[in-house]
Amino acid sequence: KQYSIYTAVIPGQRDAAALAVITDETRIRKLERLRSEFVANVTHELKTPLTSIRGSIELLKSTNRDEKTRLYFYDVLDIEAERLQHLIDDMLVLSQIENAKEDPSARPCVVANAVEKCVSRLRPVAEKSGIAVQIQVDPSLIVSCSPTRLEQLIGNLIENAIKYNRPDGRVDIIGVRQRKTAVIRVKDTGIGIAPEHFGRLFERFYRVDASRSREIGGTGLGLSIVKHLAVLYGGEVGVESQAGKGSTFTVRLPLAQDGSEKSALKTI
Ligand code: ADP
Repeated sequence: KQYSIYTAVIPGQRDAAALAVITDETRIRKLERLRSEFVANVTHELKTPLTSIRGSIELLKSTNRDEKTRLYFYDVLDIEAERLQHLIDDMLVLSQIENAKEDPSARPCVVANAVEKCVSRLRPVAEKSGIAVQIQVDPSLIVSCSPTRLEQLIGNLIENAIKYNRPDGRVDIIGVRQRKTAVIRVKDTGIGIAPEHFGRLFERFYRVDASRSREIGGTGLGLSIVKHLAVLYGGEVGVESQAGKGSTFTVRLPLAQDGSEKSALKTI
């Protein structure tokens, strides 16, 4: 670490007084670096779809395009606009949760319900690639979260488990109680992740294979959202993986108090 010490003499004082200001420059420089990296990343992520949109518009404007080609470019416009929408949505979520100390809309949520909702939304996507999704979640697990945020946390992990799987692979979602903690595991039989990426995996915009992930349709913010949400709700997230074999993401969240469990069960 590097420190700077500034001294100042106060005028009019008989005995010169000195004031020392210690600044942790390493920390400030790191924050500066992270901020400019973030701006560079966002700019790049916005520019890529925009370039594609402008190119398609130019081609559509020329009159001698046949109907099939025109439809193709309308599809490109649709896909790229959707990509921009996802990016903006994810950035908004991140900005809301990144510096939050607690979530005022947190209430007791049944983990199994959140998993069911995510799976019914994502099953059609999985079926397209012949991926089987299995759920084994203890129905008594109740955690204190905002229901939408809990679905986002679990949904992002399931979505990745489907996206980075092999055709005809499997996704298993397991939820068990370990003392006062709900342990949720999302296990896939996909491409896996080499251990050297584990340290940076939850950083904003970090991707193991950037072009592949962009092609598959990710914003690069999914795992960062998962991590911030897990921490916001007093928990943590971890990963185990073997390249070529598959990955398991594990989220641990504190179970809600006994009193609130009853009120949650009433509202199911
Ligand atoms: P993305 O939108 O690119 O999927 P994420 O933040 O969700 O962004 O994930 C970051 C990167 O971590 C991905 O680009 C991918 O390289 C890797 N990754 C995430 N989940 C998995 C998984 N289940 N299997 C293999 N790689 C994964």
